[in-house]
Amino acid sequence: MNVHEYQGKEVLKQYGVVVPRGHVAYTPEEAVDAAKKLGGDLWVVKAQIHAGGRGKAGGVKLARSLDEVKAFASELLGKVLVTHQTGPEGKEVKRLLIEEGCAIQKEYYVGMTLDRSKGRLVMMASEEGGTEIEEVAARTPEKIFKEVVDPAVGLQAFQARRLAYSIGIPKELINKAVKFMLGLYQAFVDKDCSLAEINPLITTKDGQVMALDAKLNFDSNALYRHKDIVELRDFDEEDPKEIEASKYDLSYIALDGNIGCMVNGAGLAMATMDIIKHYGGEPANFLDVGGGATTEKVTEAFKIILDDPNVKGVLVNIFGGIMKCDVIANGVVEAAKQVGLDRPLVVRLEGTNVELGKEILNQSGLKIVAADSMADAAEKIVSLVN
Ligand code: ADP
Ligand code: MG
Repeated sequence: MNVHEYQGKEVLKQYGVVVPRGHVAYTPEEAVDAAKKLGGDLWVVKAQIHAGGRGKAGGVKLARSLDEVKAFASELLGKVLVTHQTGPEGKEVKRLLIEEGCAIQKEYYVGMTLDRSKGRLVMMASEEGGTEIEEVAARTPEKIFKEVVDPAVGLQAFQARRLAYSIGIPKELINKAVKFMLGLYQAFVDKDCSLAEINPLITTKDGQVMALDAKLNFDSNALYRHKDIVELRDFDEEDPKEIEASKYDLSYIALDGNIGCMVNGAGLAMATMDIIKHYGGEPANFLDVGGGATTEKVTEAFKIILDDPNVKGVLVNIFGGIMKCDVIANGVVEAAKQVGLDRPLVVRLEGTNVELGKEILNQSGLKIVAADSMADAAEKIVSLVN
């Protein structure tokens, strides 16, 4: 799960990571109030969307008066911001962060993620802050320094110090940078993050080490033990179909293709997407209805698939183990009745109660194309949607 920059900064603050003072604003008036509360004479008006690259796209504005704060806030709110991370359709700005303007000495990069090949957390740092780390990695990989964390003892101060020295943090600020990195590490572990990126981390002219930007991702599978993080979820930033699916505990990811897939088990769902591609089609979604799905759950899943106007046909591929074929069949029939099935449907059922499931489908009066194998099913649905 993603959160906004201002929310990420609130989390980091709890761990002693210094961040600029700032307030969230939903209207130009709130933006001006926030600037007044902050005081000073330099503010930054920052679009809050779940994507980076806002600076280059005009989503980060430096304001030198309250009038400018208001003008920038009015300009940004409601604007669709297209950055290199949003895709061409962009994202509408609905919230702003009004922050004190900082006297930047230098910008650095610090990130933390799980290195799956090592099976350990890794903290990365670079003197090339403000630019995309992917670019630094491609062009000057020698400028990225890494420390691998031993889970038995956690990130050690000497490792943080080595990183800080490597990226050229001035000597007098090393201790502050170490505190920053240890705080970031602790936040990452305590809150079950999957990714943390501080780009840029800055040193200021008055000798501070701060997180000027913050991107935190949280492991969705651990959210059950972080009520405070769940509250930060912004539904405006998510695909409505995925939100609907999560209400029914369905693993659903929207994709760009036109063949809707209803499958049980993540492995079979992946294999189904592969075989659709193999026959020249494009899946419209990943959907795992899970092992113990009820008719109601299957009905909802089917509705979510059909709700996507890009879907030109549906492939149901079920291997009934724990999941029974008749339950799936009932769900498909029920959903088809409720929403009116107006697109081709190919069904491949195998496993527990398969005969009963086929009978339910046959007697439903629905126009269903039965398939005998995965290959057969994929070939049929691909030719039907083309
Ligand atoms: P993004 O990564 O989405 O472009 P950032 O928060 O990193 O957004 O901001 C982009 C740039 O804007 C920063 O690299 C920094 O130069 C400047 N900036 C951001 N916040 C402030 C601030 N509070 N004070 C001064 N400059 C800022
Ligand atoms: Mg940034």
